[in-house]
Amino acid sequence: MPGGVNSPVRAFGNVNSTPIFIKRASGAYLHDVDGNDYVDFIGSWGPMILGHSNPKIIKAIKDQADLGTSYGAPTEAETSIGELIRSVMPSIEKIRMVNSGTEATMSCIRLARGYTGRNKIIKFTGCYHGHVDSLLIKAGSGVSTFGLPDSPGIPEELARHTISVPFNDINAFLEVFESIKSELAAVIIEPIAGNMGFIPGDKDFLETLRIKTHENGSVLIFDEVMTGFRVSLGGAQELYGITPDLTALGKVIGGGLPVGAFGGKAEIMNFLAPEGPVYQAGTLSGNPLAVAAGKCLINELIKTNPYDELEANANYLLTNIKDEINKEIPFSFNQIGGMFGFFFANEFPNNFDDVVASSDKYFESFFKDCLNQGIYFAPSKYEAGFISTKHTKKILDEVINKVKVIYGT
Ligand SMILES: *Cc1c(COP(=O)(O)O)cnc(C)c1O
Repeated sequence: MPGGVNSPVRAFGNVNSTPIFIKRASGAYLHDVDGNDYVDFIGSWGPMILGHSNPKIIKAIKDQADLGTSYGAPTEAETSIGELIRSVMPSIEKIRMVNSGTEATMSCIRLARGYTGRNKIIKFTGCYHGHVDSLLIKAGSGVSTFGLPDSPGIPEELARHTISVPFNDINAFLEVFESIKSELAAVIIEPIAGNMGFIPGDKDFLETLRIKTHENGSVLIFDEVMTGFRVSLGGAQELYGITPDLTALGKVIGGGLPVGAFGGKAEIMNFLAPEGPVYQAGTLSGNPLAVAAGKCLINELIKTNPYDELEANANYLLTNIKDEINKEIPFSFNQIGGMFGFFFANEFPNNFDDVVASSDKYFESFFKDCLNQGIYFAPSKYEAGFISTKHTKKILDEVINKVKVIYGT
């Protein structure tokens, strides 16, 4: 396998280290093949919001497995997961299940282009929307510069249609918007960014995107693959009170199995085949095992609404870590629901450049010292943190005590 892994961040390249290999997981813990235990603050990058190996979810998967693992035909369970999602995310009038977050955002882009008959996309620097050709683009030196491919393999002819603008920068957005609005199919954003560390969008910034896209007949896409069912039941769109035209989902809604979904305004979704002309399909889409796991998890989240408790616990953890870290080391943090972020910077970052400027050196040594102590944070300052309902005060206090040992305070 290239780099020994099936997804790049797992290789620990950002922290000049090598990955641990996992044997099993339970509650707040990962257990590696060498017999070490770790308190896990990645949670499979989001889905494990009720902890690993949740007995109800495991049972739902086993029960479905007895009935068959894939039919390639519609099931009632797909309708009911769609209804569950719509009940808490009313912007989703119609939905389609897919198999990953990448598929969800890719399909949103095609649909937006098919619906508007336009080609250009605005995204924001530091936002990750999966490895979709049109979305793997970062800004050039100036905001009005046309995008350059971020990865070899993406034709320049395609990259040219995507313009990346600094996150949380209203003026930069307006400048690009005005220059291309007649060609603008969609604006796509992580309203709470979780792929440049963790950075919430400013409310007036997100509202500007809503107003301008609406005026212009362009599609506003909220990529809530990470934030959906992570920051609150209704996602970031509920917290901000902003209704996007389309939403991409993934991660939590699969309960740990490979799932994505996208949905939104019926008028736009009706452009999808077989109702409309925009083609999108999937052999395993709406897979019964994945839908069973996702339905079970979403039902539990609706029943327990754990988001305030998760946020309070994340705040407790980070406040205490900050207290234990040597005072001369800059440290800032933030948290919403079950997501959090910390940076070795005095001021909490507001965009990608701020994250780049935060200390790599302090991050790398903190990450390695924690891992040695059995604490598993994401192996990059460009990733968010995740907490579950199984991260009890007792476990968090153990983590805080270990950080105390690391810094000798
Ligand atoms: C993880 C993620 C994706 C991609 O999802 P995959 O399931 O990895 O393809 C897209 N957008 C955001 C915001 C993500 O966090």
